[in-house]
Amino acid sequence: MKPFARHRRLRSSENIRRMIREHHVAAEDFISPVFVVEGEGIKEEVPSMPGVFHYSLDRLDEELSEVVELGIPSVIVFGVPSEKDACGSQAYAENGIVQQAIRSIKERYPSLYVIADTCLCQYTDHGHCGTVEEGEILNDESLRLLTQTAVSQAEAGADMIAPSNMMDGFVAAIREGLDEAGFERIPILSYAVKYASAFYGPFRDAAHSSPQFGDRRTYQMDPANAREALREAASDVAEGADMLMVKPGMAYMDIIHRLKERFDLPVATYNVSGEYSMIKAAAQKGWIDEKAVVLEMLTGFKRAGAELILTYHAKEAARWLREG
Ligand SMILES: [Zn+2]
Repeated sequence: MKPFARHRRLRSSENIRRMIREHHVAAEDFISPVFVVEGEGIKEEVPSMPGVFHYSLDRLDEELSEVVELGIPSVIVFGVPSEKDACGSQAYAENGIVQQAIRSIKERYPSLYVIADTCLCQYTDHGHCGTVEEGEILNDESLRLLTQTAVSQAEAGADMIAPSNMMDGFVAAIREGLDEAGFERIPILSYAVKYASAFYGPFRDAAHSSPQFGDRRTYQMDPANAREALREAASDVAEGADMLMVKPGMAYMDIIHRLKERFDLPVATYNVSGEYSMIKAAAQKGWIDEKAVVLEMLTGFKRAGAELILTYHAKEAARWLREG
């Protein structure tokens, strides 16, 4: 018997495939991460992340001019401070590395959309995302410092605040703090669902932010849980989040999809360092076609429901897409 349904009819040429393509990846989908360090004349590759560099402010143009030229609308700024202390005071210092970076980026590239990652772990000597007392990460005490950090980033000129700390009530606390300081117009991109993932390894190299004791499992989520992700996200929506992020991406496409189905807010995903480094390592060995794999993965995020993709591949992917 002959098949009645012939799905191959709509796959018979590149043009018909283009005509019915459901999802597209474009430069405007990307948020490009930027690492800033104190000092001068620094451009230093992160050993476990080939193609990703630490920049001192005087050399940041080398990165940003490329981002802008490629049509990527947005960057997220991560700071690597030279000094850390117990309460992460460089996270909210007026002249902290991130605050300086935001001011200088907005001065040189006023239309580039600058997102500030709001957390303490890169700034605390214990490497946790909140205040620590007797080996405990305190929730409500941490909110005060996180709010102070967000306000200082907004004062420096950040266009959007992206809190990544996973303390309970962080969106409400930061929203209230921003509003009180006159930043009602600044949106919050909440890292609503952030898993305690082994895929963060290379980032911790990059940001020198490994926890000095214990792990982050009392605040980041268990990779085995999906319904809990919906509860996390629902709190953030109720607390006034403007967008939701799922982190990491590849192993959590189902979570992106569930958030997209359940909530009306835009969904972003963080295609994290370990995902990047795996592809880079396999590509260096000649085991995969890097360009094809990266574009397929990014398309997968879009298909799952992500409007925005925070990815270390942003620049190369934008370049590949331009080349066609
Ligand atoms: Zn953190």
